[in-house]
Amino acid sequence: MPPLLPLDDALAQLLAGAHPLGESEQVSTFDADGRVLAIDVVSPLRVPPQDNSSMDGYAVRCFDVPAAAMELAVGQRIPAGSSANPLQPSSAARIFTGAPIPAGADAVVMQEDCELLGAGQLVRVNRVPVAGQWIRRAGEDVAMGATVLAAGTRLGPAALGMAASVGLASLAVARRPRVALFSTGDELVMPGEVAPQHMRPGAIYNSNRFFLRAMLTRLGCVVSDMGIVPDQRDATIAALRAAAAAHDMVLTSGGVSVGEEDHIKPAVMSLGTLDLWQIAIKPGKPFAYGRIGAAHFLGLPGNPVSSFVTFALLVRPFVLRLQGATDVAVARNAMRADFSWPKADRRREFLRVRRNLGGGLDLFSNQSSGVLTSAVWADGLVDNPAGAVISPGQQVAYVALADLLA
Ligand code: AMP
Ligand code: MG
Repeated sequence: MPPLLPLDDALAQLLAGAHPLGESEQVSTFDADGRVLAIDVVSPLRVPPQDNSSMDGYAVRCFDVPAAAMELAVGQRIPAGSSANPLQPSSAARIFTGAPIPAGADAVVMQEDCELLGAGQLVRVNRVPVAGQWIRRAGEDVAMGATVLAAGTRLGPAALGMAASVGLASLAVARRPRVALFSTGDELVMPGEVAPQHMRPGAIYNSNRFFLRAMLTRLGCVVSDMGIVPDQRDATIAALRAAAAAHDMVLTSGGVSVGEEDHIKPAVMSLGTLDLWQIAIKPGKPFAYGRIGAAHFLGLPGNPVSSFVTFALLVRPFVLRLQGATDVAVARNAMRADFSWPKADRRREFLRVRRNLGGGLDLFSNQSSGVLTSAVWADGLVDNPAGAVISPGQQVAYVALADLLA
């Protein structure tokens, strides 16, 4: 048996070949969620643009309020969106959240600490203000010229808000990778084509195609679903050739083991290059990387959980890097195992686990690579080193599925 390839080596080799596609497109900031920024966003202004109030109340000069119960003339009213006149000595300005601080004022007193007198021309200030209170300073969020979002950032909701706050209605983002997705296997039947009670013996529904397509789409890819390739050399070659010509990447599931019904390997080799890896992970292990012309070829194992996990660990960073994303790693958090895993494996294992209300992790009872129930039940994976057993109470490395699927 060939030596197993450590996961980190496989990932490093994969990423070394994942040259960013390098083309960008301009999209509305509204539509940029999940996309990878192609050019730094540099702020042409300060945010906020001027000092403004963070409370509804009265803008004052602290000098005019040396003690509680001072009475000041209300000289002006400054709603948000209006401009302010300078504050006259011994006066206060009625002010609202987000409104500009008038020149000369150095504090805002919240309205709860004030009393209006008479017809509202006078205000009694019942609390002595501290200079600067309830004032948001110009530029305290963003300085002019600051890089607020760096090229290579994967944009999320907060980033879109930031781009908008510096005035950008559109953003330059990496173009979406075009990915052709295939399933292989004569046993596969598409849901909807045959009713469950009419399934022929030996047939199973194609589940991988559904989660792989969803994961690719979440990662910004445009997916061409090429369907199921029959377990036949010529059909496989023809399908792969056509797909590679029109896509940046071809992704398959199944058929990368070394069984004689596994036609992916000879087919890709006849069209280009292929490395068949035996990766030292469980679930997972067989994984193929190659090139067909200009297209990348990535072949996942067929067992659903193996396919799911190898996608998350290897394909996800790959397609993000094709888009120029700088940060493709996911966080590992130390958490307490509330289970025991007494049998060490020579491969690094990714156990399906779920956080419990006690702050620890529970283990799904069946860790078999064909049991998709484990991935539905789980909210994360324990990254367990090769050869390691786990006893209850021990700290383990937890990776959230939410991070791996985002
Ligand atoms: P393979 O890698 O082709 O040898 O497949 C390994 C196992 O995964 C077999 O039990 C296949 O039936 C199953 N399998 C392969 N592809 C899929 C798929 N798309 N959906 C569900 N199960 C699959
Ligand atoms: Mg197969």
